[in-house]
Amino acid sequence: MCPSRILAALTVSILLAAPGHAQTPPPAPPPLAGRGQSTPPSAPAAPGPPLPTQKPPTRADILRGEYGRYRANNDLLFYHLDVRVDPEKKSIAGKNTIRFRMLEDDTRIQLDLYANLAVDRIMLGGTPLKYERDLNTVYVDFPRTLKAGKEYAIDFYYSGMPKKQGRFGGMVYDKDPDGHDWIFTACEDEGAAVWWPNKDQWRDEVERMEISVAIPNGLVDVSNGKFAGKTDLGDGYTRWDWLVQYPINNYDVSLNIGNYVHFADSLGDLPLDFFVTPGNLEGAKRQFAQARPMLEAYEHYFGEYPFKKDGYKLIEVPYSGMEHQSAVTYGNRFANGYLERDWTGVGTSLKFDFIIIHESGHEWFGNAVSAADVSDMWIHEGWTTYLEALYVEHQFGHDEALRYVNAYKSKVRNREPIITQRGIHRSPSQDMYFKGALFLNTLRSVVDDDARWWTLIRDVFQHFKYQNILTEDLVRYVNAQLGQDLTPLFDQYLRRADLPVFEMAFDETEGTMAYRWRADERAFAMPIKIGTAGRWQTLRPTTDWQIMKTTLTKGTVAVATDLYYVTVFK
Ligand SMILES: [Zn+2]
Repeated sequence: MCPSRILAALTVSILLAAPGHAQTPPPAPPPLAGRGQSTPPSAPAAPGPPLPTQKPPTRADILRGEYGRYRANNDLLFYHLDVRVDPEKKSIAGKNTIRFRMLEDDTRIQLDLYANLAVDRIMLGGTPLKYERDLNTVYVDFPRTLKAGKEYAIDFYYSGMPKKQGRFGGMVYDKDPDGHDWIFTACEDEGAAVWWPNKDQWRDEVERMEISVAIPNGLVDVSNGKFAGKTDLGDGYTRWDWLVQYPINNYDVSLNIGNYVHFADSLGDLPLDFFVTPGNLEGAKRQFAQARPMLEAYEHYFGEYPFKKDGYKLIEVPYSGMEHQSAVTYGNRFANGYLERDWTGVGTSLKFDFIIIHESGHEWFGNAVSAADVSDMWIHEGWTTYLEALYVEHQFGHDEALRYVNAYKSKVRNREPIITQRGIHRSPSQDMYFKGALFLNTLRSVVDDDARWWTLIRDVFQHFKYQNILTEDLVRYVNAQLGQDLTPLFDQYLRRADLPVFEMAFDETEGTMAYRWRADERAFAMPIKIGTAGRWQTLRPTTDWQIMKTTLTKGTVAVATDLYYVTVFK
């Protein structure tokens, strides 16, 4: 998902702390309140309004987010979502066939469908099943115990009028500028159960999926996966069939119904298909030419496009965009930047189309490598924001990539940890995008060997693709690959609100400098480069003071803060 644009305006005011005019002897260390500047804040930042993520969870959040007994007792294998969409009535009706393997003997499983939609019936073969609804949860009960290791399939029939909600609307019945129906789904925050019944959580994915969508003749449905044909149903409707041949997140499953025109390209044997409204065909042919260099850049760093059998698609929609797997939706006005703005403010953003580069990056991180709980969504957004910087590096060089990623400091708040509480469907704050990317840029400097870094990030992708993981899986793997324990670094940047503070205290008569990290993690130990620009030396500070001889002084010393995202205090 693209970051919200509101944030940029909110953060500027808290970043303008003046340098503290310190007296000798050595000043008191600052509170651990790094906000991305290289000088200490002189006053506490003004308290902002409480963030939405600080609200206590509702019971619906827990029902949705908890991976309890009736979720954990089964493993999803396959969905066939087969629906009819009526633009006049703004309704949807049909069924989802859900195939799963039981992991424990049990008589009940937990599924999800928003309370405003009707459950028409749930069938196990010819047997109607009892069910119990609790808010947006549907517990399905079986007359006999389902046995561990065995596979079962149920048909979940439903109908209703999805309610427009959330950032992009969930499911929206709109019109295009020419007055044709334009119906789409985008439901990452509120969940796929806003428009279809499924096991709506992040840990378990089906291995593959079929999507069948009946719509009035003349309209086109573009969903995920490979186009598998269309059938005239003889009643004014045509069914469009799509086949997803890889694991897929529920929220990535998408309908895009409109008066689309199609054009195609390819990258080797990877088909690239583009769907836009007729008035934007020329603009799209110009702008979507960026898909090829984008794919080439990401394939260079991580390996082959992960959904090759399904192809790559860009589909025009009226909202900014979303990473729907193999069917990336696009609403960035066929212009460079992010909604025609210089998103990072250093000129680089105007050299490419933010939505093509960001949302497609999610094919690697988000769709192929997925988080197992929304708490760890930085695995999607921090990595993909870092992928933007890799794209910049591939196209425009390392210096420009450094300028680009460091420009994101102005959007970081450091008010709360990036990783949130598990099991309550708690989305992280926007720091997961920008601080997440800056942390990965820092980690590259910690590795301090680009050949090793390129190998590491490629291996991370290849090792975890098509899996749903938590941060600790990633940390364990990185530690093993590098042969060192970087857990305190991951913990400080992802599980604590504050940046590490690099403290220096100079004794110019003795010609010495005392230095250490001030961090919440007592075991925090990270190398850092100091000196003068272009003449760096690497120090290995810990949270204990060390003293070194130096000709550097408080006035001349610089810290390589473009390479390490830290607060500096001297
Ligand atoms: Zn995103």
